[in-house]
Amino acid sequence: MIKKILSFYTVISMLATVVAVSVFPGVAAEARRPEREVKLPKQAVQVEDNVFSLGEIQDPQTGQMVEGFAIIHYKEGKGKIGTGKNARLPACYGYLASGAKWKVVEPWQINPLNSGLDNSAAFSILNNGIVKWEDAADGVINNVMGANILGDGFLASEDLISQVGTLNGKNEVYFGSLNPGIIAVTYVWGIFSGPTYQRKLVEWDQVYNTYYPWSSDVLSDPAGSAKMDFDNIATHELGHSVGMNDLYNSVCSQETMYGYANFGEILKRSLNYGDIAGINKLY
Ligand SMILES: [Zn+2]
Repeated sequence: MIKKILSFYTVISMLATVVAVSVFPGVAAEARRPEREVKLPKQAVQVEDNVFSLGEIQDPQTGQMVEGFAIIHYKEGKGKIGTGKNARLPACYGYLASGAKWKVVEPWQINPLNSGLDNSAAFSILNNGIVKWEDAADGVINNVMGANILGDGFLASEDLISQVGTLNGKNEVYFGSLNPGIIAVTYVWGIFSGPTYQRKLVEWDQVYNTYYPWSSDVLSDPAGSAKMDFDNIATHELGHSVGMNDLYNSVCSQETMYGYANFGEILKRSLNYGDIAGINKLY
């Protein structure tokens, strides 16, 4: 993802669409709560079809210069995506940058305001999603071993709108308004270049798009086929938080890190062979 591929027109059009998002009055019939708009910073530069560089910034925690990326997760049929440049085939995994992983354990927080989800359900789903990746870090799932990568979380009481997507020393998850077609954005800061052993991740944030209706379980939800399954999408987004990259080759469509998702989908809830091999090799 560090490879800088710039298409001027794409950058301009993507930035324009991303920042042009506003409230969608058309869905007011369901009496949705006020949506909070989340914008990419003005200096964001597109470096891949679905990745924006947020530039270099000093990490307030360590004083080191780090780089930030926003990774866009599109609904199937949206976005114009290549085949995924860092994917290892046929193994079906890829990294944000080789060796860029967590080296300290930090807490995280979620405020499910605007999501329509029950607070404790949203918290549990995110927490379980983290456990899935941690459990797989030793290459075997469901063996209660692995690694503590993303630490413990808590339900935040404060509105995270002004903090999510910024490098502030906190790993924050929030539901806000993004451009239609985008299901979620994961922001990751770290050191992605230079000697592999010096690379690391230092912060992650996630925004889930309130443009789409969310369900804590689309299987038991009567309207689940028209909703995004939070477990399904969060497990994918958490892959970015631990250092995994998207896959866009259809050969890898069974992987949690496959780049597209859709309503009612649950395929990404469980890690697949490539996801497990990838996280195992990284940690
Ligand atoms: Zn993704």
